[in-house]
Amino acid sequence: MTTVINSPTEAIARVIEQQRQFFNAGKTKDLDFRRQQLEKLKTAIKQKEEQIIAALHQDLCKPELEGYIEMAVLQDINYALKHLKSWAKKKKVKTPLTQFPASAYIYAEPLGNVLIIGPWNYPFSLIISPLIGAIAAGNCTILKPSELAPQTSRVLTELINDTFPPEYIAVIEGGVKTSQALLAENFDHIFFTGGTKIGKIVMEAAAKNLTPVTLELGGKSPCIVDSNIDLKETAKRITWGKFLNAGQTCIAPDYLLANKQIKTELIAAIKQCIRDFYGDNPQSSPDFARIINRQQFDRLQGLLADGTVILGGETKAEDLYISPTLITDAALDSPLMAEEIFGPILPILEYDNLQNAIALINSRSKPLALYIFSKDKDIQEQILMNTSSGGVCINDTVMQVGVNELPFGGVGDSGIGSYHGKASFDTFSHQKSVLKKSFLLDFNWRYAPYADKLGLFKKLTQ
Ligand code: NAD
Repeated sequence: MTTVINSPTEAIARVIEQQRQFFNAGKTKDLDFRRQQLEKLKTAIKQKEEQIIAALHQDLCKPELEGYIEMAVLQDINYALKHLKSWAKKKKVKTPLTQFPASAYIYAEPLGNVLIIGPWNYPFSLIISPLIGAIAAGNCTILKPSELAPQTSRVLTELINDTFPPEYIAVIEGGVKTSQALLAENFDHIFFTGGTKIGKIVMEAAAKNLTPVTLELGGKSPCIVDSNIDLKETAKRITWGKFLNAGQTCIAPDYLLANKQIKTELIAAIKQCIRDFYGDNPQSSPDFARIINRQQFDRLQGLLADGTVILGGETKAEDLYISPTLITDAALDSPLMAEEIFGPILPILEYDNLQNAIALINSRSKPLALYIFSKDKDIQEQILMNTSSGGVCINDTVMQVGVNELPFGGVGDSGIGSYHGKASFDTFSHQKSVLKKSFLLDFNWRYAPYADKLGLFKKLTQ
């Protein structure tokens, strides 16, 4: 019998219902099944490698090497395959004397049916990376890639449709309306990557069904540069992290707080790096990406007026090109310094007293990443102890994302929850507490009549 589907909402509801039935059948609880699915995903990605890289180039003009950064998901799959058994194993915990004789365990059980919504800047890996956690933890998943990276969304849909049945993993393509229709449904978890503003909308929708959320959001990630540094290396690492993907990286250094003593030399060194990386005309460099669309281009172009452009500032609307740009003298309340930049524009501020730099950071929303360049361990520690951010990287930028053992996520306005490695498995699992009692013995200390038992009760419980 053919089922007639009249509306997108009906189609969504139907996929969710099928996934619920599939999950309830219990197949995903089997570790071998999960392993096989991870292997299938790995093979499918390898087979479509060229199309994925090409799609990323079409959507963002991503240089080939930067496309391959998204292929790091293959390593994530290997890591999950290697550790799945130990992650999923029930963990024995100690029991207090009052429970004797008993044993206690934590079981990691799959949450059920989960929704993953992705952004456009790393449109492939930011869908696949959480999916790896969802599969490893034994869930059924609906994926909603960003409509603003349409070529990647198409390749991703083909890849998933060719590899998994929709009752297990399905892609629903579409924009805001589709996203809203999905959010109106009841899921066991929603994993969202995107901006803070939309993150609030997602959480509000999730609250209606009491659905737990992971929100991987953005923000202004500061980069403090002390005077005690290797200037050349510092400039190289900042330039790479900032202008990678034309600045459209959630953990790109958003702005620099440079020690007054080295600010001039630092600027000269960054200018030199930009020339070394992208030549005298970055527009003709094969290694520099483009802005995702006209709306983002216009927003970024508007920010160029918020300070003194000391390098770059060239824009070509027809090519969605904005050159790597350095800006000084930006007012703290200007849009450039108030909003997440998310483009190839780097404002450089100076400080003469570290306390002031820390106070500036603490007067703002908690960032997703914080960068410290300093050889001085006391300064590193002082900043670490007196600021709060999703993560910190000392003497480099962006590289913290590549350590599987480090949970990746924000705090405050930059997000809720985390993933990567075991954190992904935990995010998509429920930690079920189980106490097993024995019938062998039963001390009478807790049962009525309570007369004469208070003394013993106090001894055991206080
Ligand atoms: P976005 O918030 O605009 O969109 C993300 C997703 O939400 C898309 O799939 C989109 O279709 C959907 N969406 C948009 N409007 C919606 C609405 N009103 N209701 C429901 N769904 C809606 O984000 P973006 O522009 O795609 O990505 C850029 C942002 O994402 C930046 O702020 C960046 O810092 C952040 N980001 C964070 C991380 C991280 O890991 N923390 C990674 C990448 C990007």
